[in-house]
Amino acid sequence: MDKIRLAIVGFGGMGNAHAANVRAKNPEIEVYGAYDIRPEAIEDARNKGLKVYDSLDSLLADGNIDLVTVATPNNFHKSISVKALRAGKNVVCEKPVTLNSSELEEIIRARDESGRVFSVHQNRRWDRDFRIVKAAKEQGLLGTVYMVKSIVQGSRGSMYGWRGHKENGGGMLLDWGVHLIDQALQMFDEKVTGVDAHLLSMYTPGVDDNIHLFLRFESGCSYVMEMSTNCLINLPRWHVQGTEGTLQIDDWTCKGRLMKLKPNAEMHWSDDIIYTEAGPTRTMAPRPEHTMMEIPLPDEKPDILEFYKNIVSVIRGEGELIVKPEQALRVMRVVDLMFKASAEGAAQKCSI
Ligand code: NAD
Repeated sequence: MDKIRLAIVGFGGMGNAHAANVRAKNPEIEVYGAYDIRPEAIEDARNKGLKVYDSLDSLLADGNIDLVTVATPNNFHKSISVKALRAGKNVVCEKPVTLNSSELEEIIRARDESGRVFSVHQNRRWDRDFRIVKAAKEQGLLGTVYMVKSIVQGSRGSMYGWRGHKENGGGMLLDWGVHLIDQALQMFDEKVTGVDAHLLSMYTPGVDDNIHLFLRFESGCSYVMEMSTNCLINLPRWHVQGTEGTLQIDDWTCKGRLMKLKPNAEMHWSDDIIYTEAGPTRTMAPRPEHTMMEIPLPDEKPDILEFYKNIVSVIRGEGELIVKPEQALRVMRVVDLMFKASAEGAAQKCSI
C-alpha cells in the first residue's frame, strides 16, 4: 500500500520532534515536506531531506501531500488547519488545538465540509504515569475515586519564547493545562459540573505561568491540577484517593505506590485520643501499618507510536479516530470557562 505523505508546517522544536518520531517509528508514513516562516528552519528541513516550500499555499497545492501536521505557535493553529482541510488535506494539529472553543468549532465545520480527518496531538494520553492512574481507577483498585491531584512543577521561572506572549496564545493554561484537562476528561467518563481556576502571572507579565485548576465531576469527584514554574521542592506527580485505597506516583519515572486497606482489617483504636508530636487527635492519628497492604501498580506500557498509526488507519478508512476533535472541544469549553472563572474570581457551574 502507498505510504501516507506527511508535510509539517512550523519546523521548530515540535515540528522536528514529529519528523524524527514518525521517521523512527511509523514506516507507513513518509516525512515528505515542510514549511516555516523562518529561513533557518527551512534550511534545517532541507538538510534533513525534506522538500521545502516558499509558502503555505504552495505546500497545500502539492497533490503529493496527504497529511499536514501543524506545529506553529498556538495562534496560527486555526487558520492553518482550516486552510489545509479546505485544500483537501488530512490534518494533525498540535495542542492546544485552538485558543478557544469557537475557533475549534470553525475547524470542525471545515472538517465536515471537506470530509477529511482532523485530529489533535494529545500525546500525553500515552504518558505512562497517566495510564497507571487510569488503569488503577478502571480496575477498581481504589474503590470509588473521589479526590485527584495532578501536578506538574518546573523551576525555570518564566514561560519560554512565544509562550510568554498573549497574542501567540501563550500561558500555562493553554500550554500544559490542556494536556492535564484532557487526561482528566479521559479518566472520568462523566460530565463536568463545575470549574474554577486561579491563574497567577508571577514571572511572565501578560500570561498565566503558575496555575491551579479545579474540576468538579458529576459523581462529585474533586479533581485539582497544579502547574508551576518556580518550584524547588516538587510534590508527587499524582495523588489519588478512593474509598478503598490511595495511589501516589512520584514523578515521570513512575515510582510510586498503591496502598489498600486489608480486607476485614480491624481497626483497634485502643485509646480514643492518640497523642502525636502535634498534640492529641482522633481523626488525623496515623493508621496502624498492619491494617494496610501495598499492591503493585498496574503494569502499563503505552506506546505513542499508536498515535500516527491510528491516523493512518483512519485516513485509509479502517479505524476509529483515537483523539477526536469533539473531545478536544470539551477541553476547550472547560478552558473557556476557566479563563472566565479566573477573570471573575468565581467558580463557574456548567454541564460539559
Ligand atoms: P517553536 O517555536 O520551537 O516552533 C514553532 C515554529 O513555527 C518556528 O520554527 C516558527 O518559525 C514557526 N512558525 C511561526 N509562525 C508560523 C507560521 N505562520 N507558519 C509557519 N511556521 C510558523 O515552538 P514549539 O515548541 O515547537 O511549539 C509548536 C507547537 O507545538 C505549539 O502549538 C506547542 O504548544 C506545541 N507543542 C506540543 C508539545 C506536546 O507535547 N504535544 C510539546 C511542545 C510543543
